[in-house]
Amino acid sequence: MKNFNLETSLVQSLEEFQEGEPRVYPLVQSTTYNYKDPDFVAGLFDLTESGYFYSRIGNPTVQAFENKIAKLEGGVGAVAVASGQAATTTAILNICNSGDHIVACSTIYGGTFTLLSSSLKKIGIEISFFNPDSSEDEILSFFKENTKAIFAESIGNPGLNVLDFEKISSVAKKGGVPFIVDNTIATPYLCRPIEHGANIVIHSTTKYIDGQGSCVGGIVVDAGNFDWNNGKFPSMVDPDPSYHGMSYYETFKEAAYIVKARVHILRDFGATLSAFNAFIYLRGLETLHVRMDRHCENALKVAEFLEGHENVLWVNYPKLKSGKYYDLAEKYLPKGGSGMVLFGIKGGAKGGKEFTKKLKWINNVVHLGDVRTCVLHPGSTTHRQLSDEEQIAAGVMPEAIRLNVGIENIDDIIADIEQALK
Ligand SMILES: *Cc1c(COP(=O)(O)O)cnc(C)c1O
Repeated sequence: MKNFNLETSLVQSLEEFQEGEPRVYPLVQSTTYNYKDPDFVAGLFDLTESGYFYSRIGNPTVQAFENKIAKLEGGVGAVAVASGQAATTTAILNICNSGDHIVACSTIYGGTFTLLSSSLKKIGIEISFFNPDSSEDEILSFFKENTKAIFAESIGNPGLNVLDFEKISSVAKKGGVPFIVDNTIATPYLCRPIEHGANIVIHSTTKYIDGQGSCVGGIVVDAGNFDWNNGKFPSMVDPDPSYHGMSYYETFKEAAYIVKARVHILRDFGATLSAFNAFIYLRGLETLHVRMDRHCENALKVAEFLEGHENVLWVNYPKLKSGKYYDLAEKYLPKGGSGMVLFGIKGGAKGGKEFTKKLKWINNVVHLGDVRTCVLHPGSTTHRQLSDEEQIAAGVMPEAIRLNVGIENIDDIIADIEQALK
């Protein structure tokens, strides 16, 4: 494969083709694969041979998608899974056992917050949250002997804070742990975390990578740049009895983490991505750059419009010059700030709900990243069970409105928002 620019890599398939093979990578809708030689199949189980044998662990269409994302992110390999939540779970369980500890940014996606603070905690993995504006030393003060990872989002959902990669990768290096980045909102078109020191990148591919709102999925990408033999990760280095005493680190070198994610975590926990969803994602990726450019352009115009409106209290968008994270956005998101805008409306929680009712064609949708503009008032939907005080602690002001700005005509988008604000 030539060293194409990202846009060309997105459009041109990254798979090698033989003469006369299909133009579009085929959907291989098969759970299993034919073999004549049982010794070869035994080798597949022992990981001494490579090939497909059962689609829980690998499928050609899923692998074509994994290879494409790995290439786009600049990693050595990727494992696709059933959802973004499964991607985070896989990324962490691959290196953490009961009794371990992780450090995570407090402004992460609500579902991830609950996964870390509740579900992983129940199985014995401790968690400490840091404020994204904390200093390096403040974040390092959360590190303990048993800390195994630091986790953050390149663009926080829904707060839209931009990650200070330099600061967090320095913390990760000093702590001797991998730096895991959720790159869902930015996508590899706007930001490539591995170039800024990330060791593992995860995505909810449900969002912009699909772009059509049709398939739930996720992916874990390994940069292949972390030294697992630093004394903290025995499960990566020591013999694995479930593979006749094989050491991932010795056998697979820089791909140890991602091989283990597949042959251990995916094998045992089974959160496999369906081949059909991978097929749809391969279609979605071919237009990612064009869609993201329009999402970014429209979202910035909406943010600027809202900033000047009398019924709006505040606006968060990474590329607003007045924003707290503008300098970081210029540094890490040169092409644009993605498609989400968060703003505060006059009238508190009641005003927020009213606004979403008054929109004519922009629908209330618990989703983001698809091509259609949609709105969500967290206070009366995703966070409705919380009191005002609890919402604020969770980073969601009662008056906050989340807009997913789509790729329609900008005048139509602003017209609907304008009449609803009135
Ligand atoms: C949606 C989302 C997730 C969870 O992904 P699912 O595909 O819904 O499981 C994780 N992180 C971020 C930033 C998200 O927006």
